[in-house]
Amino acid sequence: MQDTKKFFENLSGAGKSIGVLTSGGDAQGMNAAVRAVVRMGIYVGAKVYFIHEGYQGMVDGGDNIKEASWESVSSMLQVGGTVIGSARCKDFRTHEGRLRAALNLVQRGITNLCVIGGDGSLTGANLFREEWSGLLDELVQSGQISEEAAQTHSALHIVGMVGSIDNDFCGTDMTIGTDSALHRIIEVVDAIMTTAQSHQRTFVLEVMGRHCGYLALVSALACGADWVLIPEMPPKDGWEEQMCHKLSENRADKKRLNIIIVAEGAIDQNNKPITTELIKDLVVRCLGFDTRVTILGHVQRGGTPSAFDRILASRMGVEAVLALLEASPGTPACVVSLCGNQAVRLPLMECVQMTQEVQKAMDEKRFEEAVKLRGRSFENNLNTYKLLSHRKIDAELPRSSFNVAVLNVGAPAAGMNAAVRSAVRVGITEGHTLFAVNDGFEGFSKGQIKEIKWGDVGGWTGQGGSLLGTKRTLPAKHIDKIAEQMRIHNINALLVIGGFEAYLGLLELQAARSKHAELCVPMVMVPATVSNNIPGSDLSIGADTALNAITDVRRHTLVSECVCVYGEKIKIFFLWVTQNGSSVTWLRKTHFKTF
Ligand code: ADP
Repeated sequence: MQDTKKFFENLSGAGKSIGVLTSGGDAQGMNAAVRAVVRMGIYVGAKVYFIHEGYQGMVDGGDNIKEASWESVSSMLQVGGTVIGSARCKDFRTHEGRLRAALNLVQRGITNLCVIGGDGSLTGANLFREEWSGLLDELVQSGQISEEAAQTHSALHIVGMVGSIDNDFCGTDMTIGTDSALHRIIEVVDAIMTTAQSHQRTFVLEVMGRHCGYLALVSALACGADWVLIPEMPPKDGWEEQMCHKLSENRADKKRLNIIIVAEGAIDQNNKPITTELIKDLVVRCLGFDTRVTILGHVQRGGTPSAFDRILASRMGVEAVLALLEASPGTPACVVSLCGNQAVRLPLMECVQMTQEVQKAMDEKRFEEAVKLRGRSFENNLNTYKLLSHRKIDAELPRSSFNVAVLNVGAPAAGMNAAVRSAVRVGITEGHTLFAVNDGFEGFSKGQIKEIKWGDVGGWTGQGGSLLGTKRTLPAKHIDKIAEQMRIHNINALLVIGGFEAYLGLLELQAARSKHAELCVPMVMVPATVSNNIPGSDLSIGADTALNAITDVRRHTLVSECVCVYGEKIKIFFLWVTQNGSSVTWLRKTHFKTF
């Protein structure tokens, strides 16, 4: 508490008024951002105003601009869309409209704005800030405000948060709403998978993204789709035959289901749209497969926000208020972004310009550049998808005499199988021989180990639990036998995917290296545990899925969230009770610790 006081000594919001609005297309998690701005603003002593219906409310004034209280944002964290309303506003595009908006803000003493929206909304906000002093001069000249009022409110501070399900904004790894949209897509894919498995079908799935292929690409990664089409990477000439070849190859591999994911804005090398119907006709004509088209549409915007979006938006909202408190008259408008696991502030207009550059690059068919401009995480996703979905023929593989053993250790965690699949396929692509160990260190000591091939891990991405089998047993008691198995199979590297026992287990194996030369090989652990308690990692595989299971409003009700801010650290504690409200079933610290 002492630290918190010190931190806020220089960051008081007393005497300041903050307006918060949501603008443009709605996205799940916008409410969490609004809530965080309101509560953080009130916490630091500022007045916070809701501006209803986006810029239209700012232009129209009246009841559209209302002071918010701590309680007014209760129970909105888990609500989809935006409770304060969003709109597209023609008036704000005009000078006259912005003049009216300025008058409404000055009359209420609001000189700080948190704008939650897409690049259009943020561009509008920046323009408003640039025009601000001119607008105030006009209002003084027309006698609508006094000179004194103009001087008191001479600087307008703007901070943006990107709410967009498309993840189409440069400078941030994730925009608010994208993760929830991905959840909706994966729910549909999972549902489709059950029906398609029974009938041997091909599904062509269209997801949102008129200009950005993020949702299509990442959902293809998440469900191990056979083919993906996105605007940033139009397929090369002859793609039709390649795609059909891949589909028939996968069928021959006993895969009963083919999934093709198409972004709404998918195009070919000549910027001609590639539609779901075109793909369906192609598959039917060339392969005769039973093929169905599903267009997801607005379902992707619906439903409740995922745990990730709630937390992301909460952290961004808090950071946005801090940015406003720290702003001086010359501070340019900024946008709060996620970089790695850090909330950072970036110059708003640079990000907007970069975002527009991507579209320009695509229009001018500079596709490789467009992918680069999207950012490192987009490029990594694309490379990972290519690597994991296209099997190279043996003659193309590099030769290596490296044998790698993969095992799961600890309690099962969602995502373990996807991690094993990636490790196996990447290892094979590098020319190594991969060995699967069943039942953790215990199974290893008993010789439960055998070679695993590319096709063996097909369809593993969406499966829960551990298909290899996992145990908590630590290796210390079985070291001799494990070393023997390492020798028998000539294992040159060990990959352990698991929780805290995996971490302790590797420490035990390391300690035994002086006695067993077989253990003097590279050993790597990938943290996979719902407890998220592995030192050195912000986020373990499985933690996010566990949070979503808990966040499921049908089973649980969020009763209290306490955001404690101290120094530069923010810890968010969630306290949950079951729906009957009688007992606290779960109390834990989330995975986000510092930014
Ligand atoms: P998004 O914010 O999701 O990109 P839009 O591009 O439709 O959505 O923008 C939302 C609103 O932001 C517009 O209706 C308009 O009021 C405002 N806006 C967008 N671009 C500008 C601009 N260049 N100048 C002024 N206002 C703008």
